[in-house]
Amino acid sequence: MQNLFQNTEVAYSLKKTSQIRKSIFLFSLITKGFLVKILSNATLFFLKLGLPIKWLLKATIYEQFCGGASISECSGIIKRMKKKNVFSILDYSIESLETEKDFDNAFEKKLTIIKLSKENDMPFSVFKPTSLGSYKLFKKKSSNEILNDNEKSNWFNIEKRFDRIFEYARKMKVKILVDAEEYEVQNAIDELVLKMMKRYNTGNEAYIYNTVQLYRWDRIEYLNKLIVDRGNFRLGFKLVRGAYMEKERQQAKENDYQSPICKTKEATDNNFNEALRLLFNNIEGVDIFVASHNEHSNYLVLEMMNKHSIENKSNNVWFCQLYGMGDNITFNLSKKGYNVAKILPFGPVKNLIPYLIRRAQENSSVGGQTNRELKYLKKELLRRNN
Ligand SMILES: Cc1cc2nc3c(=O)[nH]c(=O)nc-3n(C[C@H](O)[C@H](O)[C@H](O)COP(=O)(O)OP(=O)(O)OC[C@H]3O[C@@H](n4cnc5c(N)ncnc54)[C@H](O)[C@@H]3O)c2cc1C
Repeated sequence: MQNLFQNTEVAYSLKKTSQIRKSIFLFSLITKGFLVKILSNATLFFLKLGLPIKWLLKATIYEQFCGGASISECSGIIKRMKKKNVFSILDYSIESLETEKDFDNAFEKKLTIIKLSKENDMPFSVFKPTSLGSYKLFKKKSSNEILNDNEKSNWFNIEKRFDRIFEYARKMKVKILVDAEEYEVQNAIDELVLKMMKRYNTGNEAYIYNTVQLYRWDRIEYLNKLIVDRGNFRLGFKLVRGAYMEKERQQAKENDYQSPICKTKEATDNNFNEALRLLFNNIEGVDIFVASHNEHSNYLVLEMMNKHSIENKSNNVWFCQLYGMGDNITFNLSKKGYNVAKILPFGPVKNLIPYLIRRAQENSSVGGQTNRELKYLKKELLRRNN
């Protein structure tokens, strides 16, 4: 199995040679930091000025990492991936919402996506908690501050939106992944999702998965506690390393508290692998959703499945990568009959800028994704040219 992810013919069978060339060009720009700088510093400013930057983003980084502006624009990608046994998870990205009306609209959109997921045989849906309520309120709740009457009423609305989404998803038999966000809002998210798991994860499979960021040094203890205290319901966890490292470190420094992030990449990797071992040792009560582009972690999951005699198609273990990344893992796993999905972000270019900045930053960091992606893309191009 140790060479499974090397097969680039399988990895890129859905890509035309021209698309592979374009991806190589794009990832090369990201490595040089060029696109990252444009995205991080100037994009919103250019958009406000009405400069025609949208088409440039759409033809480059957006096309690499996003499915399209609407669900119908994504339908070709969804069908092609499905033919390779890879399920799409539609992710309608909108960040920085503020009014109750915005949150109600976002809530309605989630229900529509769940319905469409059911109709199009997509077993999962995903959402970002702060798209259903104010970031400031999640932050206040996370730090156990007393809420005023207005905030109490808004928090009640958040709980109601969560509950109705999970109730509907359970009815439709669509599983829900709840994204993890910044440290300062995560306590409130964790508490709320746990409450919902108790309510809706009552059968043999989890319908709700909370996301656990293993770049946080306190998460093994957190997982352990949940497993030990677990009552009569199933736990569902989506494991990630974490996407907000620089911001978290900066925030901790500015506000003079201990950084929640592991000191080194190695410590994060050890945490991730430790979490996998812990969950597999408790698989009778836990469903695992492995969300990573790290080959070693994915190989470790295969090893664990083998050790615990878990079938490739068992519903208790899922693999997932982001659209535009880690195709060597996604398509080689699906070919072997494992459960695999891709998160497929969609929506107008403007909405997706914070998401694209995170992807560009993580791909530009030294030792990050880009070398991996470039290595495989170039290998495939060479193979096709020979
Ligand atoms: C399907 C999917 C869903 C995701 N959902 C979320 C989500 O809900 N919330 C979220 O926060 N992220 C999410 N992510 C992003 C994820 O957290 C990672 O940023 C990304 O996947 C890169 O990590 P990796 O495991 O793929 O691989 P790797 O490339 O092996 O790991 C890179 C990661 O390691 C960590 N790291 C790097 N350098 C250091 C260092 N010096 N010290 C400590 N740690 C370091 C960082 O987390 C960095 O992102 C998701 C990713 C996927 C694939």
